[in-house]
Amino acid sequence: NDGDTMPILVIGTGYGGAVAALRLAQAGQSVVMVEKGMSWTQPGSDGKVFCNMLNPDGRSFWLRTETVQPINHFMGAPYDKAISNYTGVLDAEQFSGIRIYQGRGVGGGSLVNGGMAVTPKQENFASILPSVDAASMYSTYYPRANAGLKVNNVDQTWWQSADCYQFARVGKKTAEASGFSTTFVPNVYDFNYMKQEQAGTATRSALNAEVIYGNNYGKNSLDKTYLAAASGTGKVTIVPQHNVTAVSPANGGGFSVVMNQIDTSGNTVKTKTVTAQKVFFAAGSVGTSKLLVTQKATGKLPNLPDSVGTGWGNNGNVMVARQNQAWDATGSLQSCIPTLGIDNWADSGGPAFAEISPFPAGIETFASLYLAITKNPNRGTFSYNSGSGGVDLNWQTAWNQPSIDCAKRIFDPINTKQATIYRTDLFGEYKTWGDDFAYHPLGGCVINVSTDNYGRLTPYPGLYVIDGSLIPGLTTVNPFVTITALAERNIENIIANDFK
Ligand code: FAD
Repeated sequence: NDGDTMPILVIGTGYGGAVAALRLAQAGQSVVMVEKGMSWTQPGSDGKVFCNMLNPDGRSFWLRTETVQPINHFMGAPYDKAISNYTGVLDAEQFSGIRIYQGRGVGGGSLVNGGMAVTPKQENFASILPSVDAASMYSTYYPRANAGLKVNNVDQTWWQSADCYQFARVGKKTAEASGFSTTFVPNVYDFNYMKQEQAGTATRSALNAEVIYGNNYGKNSLDKTYLAAASGTGKVTIVPQHNVTAVSPANGGGFSVVMNQIDTSGNTVKTKTVTAQKVFFAAGSVGTSKLLVTQKATGKLPNLPDSVGTGWGNNGNVMVARQNQAWDATGSLQSCIPTLGIDNWADSGGPAFAEISPFPAGIETFASLYLAITKNPNRGTFSYNSGSGGVDLNWQTAWNQPSIDCAKRIFDPINTKQATIYRTDLFGEYKTWGDDFAYHPLGGCVINVSTDNYGRLTPYPGLYVIDGSLIPGLTTVNPFVTITALAERNIENIIANDFK
């Protein structure tokens, strides 16, 4: 409520925020979490909380009247659909050179993501986070994160014959026949539940084209894991539909936090100001970066370092699809949960880790779709735009050429060997590469650059960053396990030293 005071406020309920809230509560602290998205617990008129990818409605996108699907064309025709304006679960935030997809709601990105729970190879870790002791990450914090997230592995014997993974078997076969190695990746989706979906004994979710607009069943998103545990302590209050707009030092200590309570059309219902002794920024790479550069530029937190807003990267994301030979059907039934990656990171000429993605069109497409994570050296900077009052990101679409070059080192040889071609009808009218959007925003408030080595904003004791903005633009694999493990490491140090 307006005028409230509290010991700890966490902004955002994604991975970083959920870890902070749980561990602080277990250490005896009371925590309030504010989240701009909805609490996704109430079913709509169709009896379901979330809509699927084949029939998107207002629940799909954050405040839009038309979908902006990652695959926005099909066989030459635009594929987007009119929807009602609503605080839907997936945001497609458009900057000048890139569209950044993010989850909105209690659980953040965990509500919309593919659940791929990948721990990077330890030998690559120093290139990601050189200031962080890798040995303790791999002995303590990665295992702690994997346990907290309920990560599990697919039964490979079942996978070999399940209809819903025909697409993945074709992806594996064509990659391996072309000299590339594939690797199974863990996930937070409950594979035992999926077996029941395939067997026809449970309501379908991953097998019903559900993923990027939310899963109604099967997925252990954060609201089922960390946030459920946090609420279970009785010390954590989660307040949805509140969008934080300003943070500044309060007279008499602590911080004033201004937020707008919004309705499901995005309109402000009420503006509230609260005072918190400590504030954790966990609004995600884009959300936290936008808040921090705005507070610095508008004089609310003028002593933040100049580096705030820098070091942003897209995890080298680029998407592409191949058209398989007629004997390599990928299946009309596809699980939306990926299980395999093509690992070509050891190729020093162009490292890439390509997820073999589902393409749940509901019909046979003969297409193999991939999301490649590549080593792209380009980094963007967020800056406050005093004219618009918004925040710009200077990333240019052309900066993704190095990612395309890395990905081509996998898919050109596969096409040559298989005598197949790229699809050009999915990312535009005639466009091969999905190079102008990202699923994995990282950086903007990099650890040991804009914060100390544990996420403290040192000019303002009591302010912390604990989300993907700490990671300098790349994790070499899908990022959320690393975001979670780093948050586990940082909060342990913060609790030990700052809550004596
Ligand atoms: P987030 O999870 O983004 O959480 C931030 C939260 O803060 C959000 O809920 C947001 O609404 C809220 N917020 C933002 N601004 C404010 C504000 N001003 N006031 C209040 N609240 C605010 N990663 C993987 O590892 N594996 C995958 O398979 C995978 N698949 C993906 C698929 C899709 C479609 C997308 C979009 C992402 C995927 N990701 C995947 C990426 C992963 O979801 C993100 O890296 C992760 O969610 C980032 O965690 P975070 O804690 O930094 O922030």
